[in-house]
Amino acid sequence: MAEDKAVPTDKIAAGLTRRQLIEIDACARCGECLAWCPVYAQDPRESICSRGKLRSLKGLVRSGLDEAEQKEFLEGLYECSACGQCHVVCPVRINTHELWEQARESLVKAGIPQPEQQIKHLAAIREFNNAYAKPQQERGAWAEKAWKAGLLREPVRLWKEHRASVLYFAGCTASFDPVMQAVAVQSARLLQEAGIDFAILGPDEPCCASKLRRMGAPGFADEARKRVDLFREQGIETIVVSCAGCFKGLHADYRGILSPSTEVFPLTAYLDRLIGEGRLRPREKVPLRVTYHDPCHLGRHNQIYSEPRSLLNAIPGIELVEMRRHGPFSACCGMGGGLKLAKPEIQKKMSAARVKEAEDTGAEVIITPCQTCQIGLTVGVEAISSRLRVYHMNEVLIRSVCPEVCREHIEKAFAAAEE
Ligand code: SF4
Ligand code: SF4
Repeated sequence: MAEDKAVPTDKIAAGLTRRQLIEIDACARCGECLAWCPVYAQDPRESICSRGKLRSLKGLVRSGLDEAEQKEFLEGLYECSACGQCHVVCPVRINTHELWEQARESLVKAGIPQPEQQIKHLAAIREFNNAYAKPQQERGAWAEKAWKAGLLREPVRLWKEHRASVLYFAGCTASFDPVMQAVAVQSARLLQEAGIDFAILGPDEPCCASKLRRMGAPGFADEARKRVDLFREQGIETIVVSCAGCFKGLHADYRGILSPSTEVFPLTAYLDRLIGEGRLRPREKVPLRVTYHDPCHLGRHNQIYSEPRSLLNAIPGIELVEMRRHGPFSACCGMGGGLKLAKPEIQKKMSAARVKEAEDTGAEVIITPCQTCQIGLTVGVEAISSRLRVYHMNEVLIRSVCPEVCREHIEKAFAAAEE
């Protein structure tokens, strides 16, 4: 990060909206955000929390900051998971996390780039159309492997061959991360169990590009438009996504760009609806005491709180116990906003703190409907050698609907196919 470059204050101000310029004046300095910020809990410096950042941003756009102040501000701006907790607790309702994303973009446009690791990650998304820098041809390989391994009722069809009622959008992580491919396989199998006519884009599935927005990369709106054009050209009107980050991207970040006739559902809410309609029936008992981790992108950012809990309560044998911080106050695992790339040690501490909170409930398993949170929480489990297991929501549901597609069986089947 180029901390020592002088920041052109007029350009920074020009990159913020009128509302945001008012918001930087609105802080009452009450300190409520300090008490709740999960990053500040691990690194208690004023420059990390919203109050400190608002003060610095105001100084920056009004009169400029000296070199030390500027360095401190930039550190605080990127040592943030954009979790939105400060917005929820702020009595003035300053839209803080959106302000931090916009300030990042404004700084980049003014010539002050993101931390090095974020730049590399963003370049991979731009070059390969996925965050894993893998050939796009491999994107739908999970579906073929799963069919050959006998994990599906029927092959998953490609959209270009079959314009279905529903597009299942797997996202980069479930498509390319070998451990997380189980999420895509289980999503497909659950949709098949419910008799949903769906297809995937496979090699044509783009990265949702929401990370560009999270890390302030300019040009996000143009990227979003390209994806929306693809959906329109392909006649796609209903999209089900199994990643909380993709859901926030398609549902919230594309707002105003996505056609009003296109509906985007998070998989967990979609499955809950199918259970409610009697199309998907959890049958087998899953005797587990579990606690539920609300992903920031589903919960605070999109108010999806009740559907995942309703789904869990529909599974026989599941006992759901809440953590001290849950719902709108759920503590972030540190995976959002590019924080893990910028400050992996802080992400680890945040995740460890969240896992300890989960341990306090007496649960055996932490459930989350987001593969990115699953990765993040696993870091915490390993950091403190916790006895807790971290499951994707699909894993508990599949154990009740069709246990032969549990993660362990998928891993064994995929490993056997490799031999
Ligand atoms: S968005 Fe989250 S991590 Fe960032 S300052 Fe606010 S509470 Fe802290
Ligand atoms: S909670 Fe809101 S008003 Fe209070 S210090 Fe933080 S940003 Fe300012």
